Order: sequence, then structure tokens, then C-alpha cells
Amino acid sequence: MTLDEGVSLLYLLASVLFILGLKQLSSPKGARQGNFTAALGMIIAIVASLTVIHPSGARIILMTVAVVIGALVGAVMARRVKMTAMPQMVAAFNGVGGGAAALVSVGEYTRLISGSSHGVVLAIAVVFSVVVGSVSFAGSAVAFAKLQEVMTGVPITYSGQQVVNGVVLLGIIAFAVDIIGFSASIPVLVILLLVSLLLGVAFVLPIGGADMPVVISLLNAFTGLAVAASGFALGNTVLIVGGTLVGASGTLLTMMMSDAMGRSLSNVLFAAVGKVTESSSATVGIAGQDQNVRAGTADDIGVLLSYSQKVIVVPGYGLAVAQAQHVVRELADLLEKKGVEVKYAIHPVAGRMPGHMNVLLAEADVKYDQLKEMDEINDEFKLADVALIVGANDVVNPAAKTDPGSPIYGMPILNAEDAKNIVFMKRSMRPGFAGIDNQLMFDPKTIMLFGDAKDSLTKLVAAVKSS
Ligand code: NDP
Repeated sequence: MTLDEGVSLLYLLASVLFILGLKQLSSPKGARQGNFTAALGMIIAIVASLTVIHPSGARIILMTVAVVIGALVGAVMARRVKMTAMPQMVAAFNGVGGGAAALVSVGEYTRLISGSSHGVVLAIAVVFSVVVGSVSFAGSAVAFAKLQEVMTGVPITYSGQQVVNGVVLLGIIAFAVDIIGFSASIPVLVILLLVSLLLGVAFVLPIGGADMPVVISLLNAFTGLAVAASGFALGNTVLIVGGTLVGASGTLLTMMMSDAMGRSLSNVLFAAVGKVTESSSATVGIAGQDQNVRAGTADDIGVLLSYSQKVIVVPGYGLAVAQAQHVVRELADLLEKKGVEVKYAIHPVAGRMPGHMNVLLAEADVKYDQLKEMDEINDEFKLADVALIVGANDVVNPAAKTDPGSPIYGMPILNAEDAKNIVFMKRSMRPGFAGIDNQLMFDPKTIMLFGDAKDSLTKLVAAVKSS
């Protein structure tokens, strides 16, 4: 077997591991293993790529130093990041992936035009990778800044925005055509890269912070495509396969997230472009200041839970903020010992990223068969004695069904309002992520338990133990 054949086999093995990893990631049970499988594929791909490059001594040291620094930074960030800050970390990692693809393509193009072997097809691959990778890098940087609250999460819009964005896009097309068809010039390629960065910023600025996870998923798909194109320019099959897998899965995830929010992708991306905001806070505020809410105590609710037959826990973003996943499991275990049936209703966009609640509850060793997806559990709420809403809000907001003027109208929600009793655990009457009031808090069946979710759950555990 020649070296090239050996490397091709390793690339094939890496590609198979990527696909297996993705398959395992599609269920919470296999997700952890899926990460290991895909990481193993990546290690094999890196080693095989290094073997085929035959780098000289100085270069191999440089490359090793780069790999070590990258791995260290990645490992430290991944260990330190809070679950609630995961979307911005994904944005950061995704952005550098796109930027790397663009830079690799610029480097490869420099090499190609100094030799004799470059044609139109390779130029197209390079230009595609530079444009899409740069858009992904700059867009992810803005998404990161919005989520990290380094800049405002409010859509940044101005009149004539469509024209400005259109001119930037036309500029990109003109430079791209020039490189592919005429000039083959590195300075023009660098200008193309800079204008593409501008487009990335212009693309994400008018999108609100609430929609950033969808944007990040889309930019993730862009990064995948940029990487695939740079693999094409480099003649590296594993980059083509890996990039295409990221592109395809990122696209699917983007569509699924928009669906779960009851919005079209074009509405998420372009609804605000060019709109000069009057004062878009008509629905934002402290809900129903003139209405009464029923606040309960942990002791009363403890008794209610203990004497229930069926309790459905609805976890949301606040559960993640409070890091209350272990206590909620403790409460559920206690109730089950008392003969209460406990299930968890998982809304597809509960929390701040896809699978957020699954990951959180898996960390607390909640049994997978207790986690029920929305479609599976929605009909069961009417049979439940208590819907225990822990730090969730938008995902149980009936306005999504009843108020055509609401920004979340059309989003499928969990039918918590059908339960015989509703316990709403949050710190205040403030709205959730969508910034809109929730009438469920004023439902006569609802009891509010105010406070940090972890503190309240700890009190409920004590109350259930003593009831
Ligand atoms: P929400 O953001 O609607 O509500 C969370 C609630 O948790 C808040 O009302 C807050 O109320 C409460 N809360 C915050 N901290 C605590 C705490 N320490 N203890 C107790 N309660 C707390 O969350 P949901 O999960 O219901 O909905 C997710 C939202 O995020 C949806 O609008 C969805 O569209 C959006 N989204 C989700 C994505 C995803 O992929 N998962 C992607 C993009 C957007 P208070 O301040 O009063 O405590």
C-alpha cells in the first residue's frame, strides 16, 4: 500500500466516524458517545493530513504549537463555560472555523497562482470559501457580542439598510467575478475577504438577540460549506466530507429551530431589515399590573404535589440559570417514591439552544424515558394533577395560540394550561426571552412560587419530605 492509499483509507475511516458520531448525537442516550466517536474521527483526520503534507522540521514545530495552543484554549473554554453561555461559545468556535477556512483558501490560492495548475473550478472553490467563511466569521462575532451582551441585543436597523446591504452584496459579486474570470490577483482576493466580513456584520446586525441561536446554527452551516470548498481547493477529501456534513446538519437544525419557534427562516433573518423602530415594546412589560396573581408557599405546594397522581415538570431557561437540575430530580425521585407518576415535558426550544434541557437533565441522571417530547406529552397535560413549570415561560405561553398579534403567535407550545393545577416557579412577573407577558400566570388554576428555582425546589423537597 502506498502512502497516498494509506492516507485515503484513514480519511475514509475518519469520515465514517463523523457520520456515526452524528448518528449517535441524534439521541440523548448516545450523545456523549457521539462526541467521542466524532472526536476520534477528527484525530485520525488530523494525523493523516499531517502525514500527507510532509512538512519540514520548522513547519512541523509551528503546526504542533498551533495544535497545542488551539486544543488548550478549546479545552479550558469548554470546561469553564456555563451551560447558559453555551450558544455564545458555539458562536465563537464556529466563527473561528469559518475564518480559518477563508484564510486557508487565501493561502492555497497564493500557492496555486504562483504555479501553473489552477483553473476556473478551483478559483470558484477558493472564492466561495473566502466569501462564506468570512461572512460566517464576522456574523458569528456579532452574534457572540449580542449574546454576551457586549453590544445591544436589539435589532440594529436604519432606513436604507436594504440598499446598503445590497451594495455590499453586489460588490462581493463583482470582485468574485473579477477573480474567477479575469485578474487572479491576491490583493483583489483580500479586498473580497474584507467586503465579505462587512456583509457578515451587516447580515447579523438587524437580527434580534432572541434569534441568535438560529443565526448561529445557520452560520454553522455556512462554515461547513466554506470548509468543504476549501477542502476542494486543497484536494482534501476529509475536509469535503466533514464540511458537507456540518453544512447539511446545520441547515437541518436551522430549519427545525425556526419551525419549533413557529417562524419561517426568512422571517427570522430579514423581518427587521430596514425597519426604523418606533417603540417596539407594546407587549413588553410587567404582566397585568391590574390583575391578581395567586402566590403560594412551598409548604402548600409540597402537600399538593405529594397528594397528586401525575405531575408533569416543564423545565425552561430558568432551570439552567439556577442550575437546579439536580434538585428537580431529587424532588421527582421523592414524589415517585410516594407513588406519584412524574414526567418531564421537553419543548424543542426550551432554554437557549437545541437540546438544552436534555443535556441539563441528563447531567442530573434523569432517566431518558421520563423525558417526553412536546408532541408525545401534550395530550397528557389534561390528565395531570400538576404542571410544575420550573423557570420556563415562553414555551407555555397561551398567547402563541390565542393572540394573532403576539410575536410568538403560531409557535407550538406545551399545553400546561390543561393541567388541573399549574405551579409557576420563577423569581418575578418579568417576561421570558420573547419579552411578552404570559396570561397563564393569572389563570385561576395557577399558583406562583416566587424565588430562585434552586431555592424553591430545595424548599419543595423539604416540604414533600415532611408531608
Ligand atoms: P423563557 O426565556 O421564556 O423564560 C425563562 C424564565 O425563567 C423567565 O421568565 C425568568 O423569569 C425565569 N428565570 C430566570 N432565572 C431564573 C432563576 N434563577 N430561577 C427561577 N426562574 C428563573 O424560557 P423558555 O425556556 O420558556 O423559552 C425559551 C425561549 O428562548 C423561547 O422564547 C425560545 O424561542 C427562545 N429561544 C430558544 C432557543 C433554543 O434553541 N432553545 C433558540 C432561540 C431562542 P424571572 O426573571 O421572573 O425569574
